[in-house]
Amino acid sequence: ERAELALLSSAPAVTLDGVAITLNANIELPDEAAAACRAGAEGVGLFRTEFLFMGRNHLPDEEEQYRAYAEAVKGMAGRPVTIRTLDIGADKALLNEPAVATNPALGLRAIRYCLAHPDIFATQLRAILRASAHGQVRILIPMVAHMHEVHATRQALASAKAELQARGQPFDDQVQLGAMVEIPATAIAIEPFAENLDFLSIGTNDLIQYTLAIDRGDTEVAHLYDSQHPAVLRLIAQTINAGVRYGKPVAVCGEMAGDATLTRLLLGMGLTQFSMHASQMLEVKREIRSAHSNALRAKVAIALNRAERVDLKAL
Ligand code: PEP
Ligand code: MG
Repeated sequence: ERAELALLSSAPAVTLDGVAITLNANIELPDEAAAACRAGAEGVGLFRTEFLFMGRNHLPDEEEQYRAYAEAVKGMAGRPVTIRTLDIGADKALLNEPAVATNPALGLRAIRYCLAHPDIFATQLRAILRASAHGQVRILIPMVAHMHEVHATRQALASAKAELQARGQPFDDQVQLGAMVEIPATAIAIEPFAENLDFLSIGTNDLIQYTLAIDRGDTEVAHLYDSQHPAVLRLIAQTINAGVRYGKPVAVCGEMAGDATLTRLLLGMGLTQFSMHASQMLEVKREIRSAHSNALRAKVAIALNRAERVDLKAL
């Protein structure tokens, strides 16, 4: 089976009925980019930058961040690299900031944290923009629920660009801005996000947590954490459909994308962009190459209408 998977690595990710699927990699450290490239990733769909910030007592400065982001961008050799801005808080706390929130998963995390700490955000945005001089960079903001967070991010991005321009430092002025869809409210009222952003990426890990009110790290309720719950699937499907209507690419970058047992389900919802750890890519690709997208679309549409837990064996 190992040999069979190895053969797959050079084969395209295309369904039996000819739908081309993009397989991107999730990375946590910059040196994983080159490995993802070798594993056949078409790009980085999620660079979780918080790992540069965790387990240390002082924040990385602009220069250190720039070097890290540039390393990932160069490692992908011209392929797109989606850099997510700091997703700190909740399960990913900074060492020098003792948790004060009673419900950190509902607290000042991710984009909320960044907008509340404009200097930290500006430093990261400048570092990301500088890295964009070395390849194709996309900026992804986590935990967005409000359009004003998107507007505030665009303003912060414009200021970061102005500062770099004043310094005479190069960057890609066309760098795309996208948002994670991982809060149910965002998926339910997705239209303005689909309209105003360049791309969307569904974070199923948090989307499931918040939709089902299950702490993703709490083992006592882990049995209730269910990616096949119809409410979760409807939110995902609705987001994918909005992307089609507004002509914006939609990816899934949560763990669901790398789970080969769910590949047919996601294809059946019309998903064409998957982002996962590089080690999961070949198994997912094998599922894609043996799937008939149109037949799955029909079956999944019926399943979602029934509002019962989706039975994967029926797909
Ligand atoms: C997610 O929530 O699905 C996701 C991809 O982000 P993270 O796991 O880093 O919260
Ligand atoms: Mg998340």
